[in-house]
Amino acid sequence: MELDVLIVGQGLAGTVLSETLAARGLRVMLFDAPREGRASWVAAGAVNPIVLRRTVATWRASEMLAVSGAFYREMEQRHDAHFWHPLPVVELFATPQDAGIWRLRSREPELGRLLTNGPVEDPGLARLPQPYGHGVVPRSAWLDMQRMLSTHRSHWVQQGCLVEREVALSDVQEGTDGVSIGTHHAHVLIWCVGPFAITPGLVPVRGEGLTVRMPGLGLKSIVHRGVFVVPLGQDRYRVGATFAWDDVWSGPTEEGQRYLLDRLARLWSGPVEVLEHWAGVRPTARDRRPILGRTSAHQAVFNGLGSRGAMLAPWCAAHLADHLFAGRPLDAEVDVARFTA
Ligand SMILES: Cc1cc2nc3c(=O)[nH]c(=O)nc-3n(C[C@H](O)[C@H](O)[C@H](O)COP(=O)(O)OP(=O)(O)OC[C@H]3O[C@@H](n4cnc5c(N)ncnc54)[C@H](O)[C@@H]3O)c2cc1C
Repeated sequence: MELDVLIVGQGLAGTVLSETLAARGLRVMLFDAPREGRASWVAAGAVNPIVLRRTVATWRASEMLAVSGAFYREMEQRHDAHFWHPLPVVELFATPQDAGIWRLRSREPELGRLLTNGPVEDPGLARLPQPYGHGVVPRSAWLDMQRMLSTHRSHWVQQGCLVEREVALSDVQEGTDGVSIGTHHAHVLIWCVGPFAITPGLVPVRGEGLTVRMPGLGLKSIVHRGVFVVPLGQDRYRVGATFAWDDVWSGPTEEGQRYLLDRLARLWSGPVEVLEHWAGVRPTARDRRPILGRTSAHQAVFNGLGSRGAMLAPWCAAHLADHLFAGRPLDAEVDVARFTA
């Protein structure tokens, strides 16, 4: 079968890229085999333009927010589904100094557009201890990644554009006129295999999280203090995540669960029922920037989404598509060549 693009991996990267390319009229075939440790199916999906630990904006925050919001809303319309939920992030200050820094930063020109001191209409907040008050990141969101991925997957399987299979390096034949996997031939193959990639500069980082029920809390915003608490509806919340650089493929650990429950107990003294404990591996680049670009004449990579994939993926997909199909230069900050040159 003659196509324009083959994509291996249907996590966040493969999903957003395939949607972007198909919307530009390209013929795309996806290959994916669910693997233990994949990131997108366990991600909390918080879209937050602030590094809360340091009260600074994330990399190109305003641009990434604008591009991602527009992309997910458009994708919702295309699939008649709902997975993009604008929700403020509320940072509960641990010390009076934290509150002071927030106030100062919110007066800076760029940060002032991203930080406020409230108010937020959320009766649930009054049930949490806030001796030093809270700050608000109003332009945040929750991307229900699992719903987005399963909506995309069932649609693409139905259209005959997603093959459920593992692709080994030896399954790929690259020639002078393109690249093939079995009978599927295309101009370019893009590897979107997240933490499973053998890509220079990639560092896998394990993360664990919990899905819990907390009756009586009634939170409507995403709350952060040490951990994120993301409301899912019906008294259910996602709590996460941990960061670990050793034994990244070990799956959920008791230590991880203890850490998360301990952090949660500092926030909420009511009942907590653990419904699910999940673990996955973040595909993070050494310099915390995405990894995009050609790796050979007919193969390319889309990786390095790290811990903020939801916000970065739409910009990265459009940027890579512009590069591969419109000949635009890659931004040096995201070019895979920075690790290979
Ligand atoms: C615990 C945790 C919490 C997180 N929370 C957030 C958050 O709140 N907000 C946020 O923005 N980001 C969050 N992230 C990060 C986010 O999950 C990642 O940035 C993003 O999901 C990476 O997507 P990906 O497509 O690159 O990788 P993956 O999601 O891992 O996708 C790779 C896909 O390729 C498939 N695959 C791999 N090799 C092959 C092969 N050879 N053949 C066929 N298929 C293959 C895998 O099975 C998988 O389906 C979190 C991550 C973790 C682990």
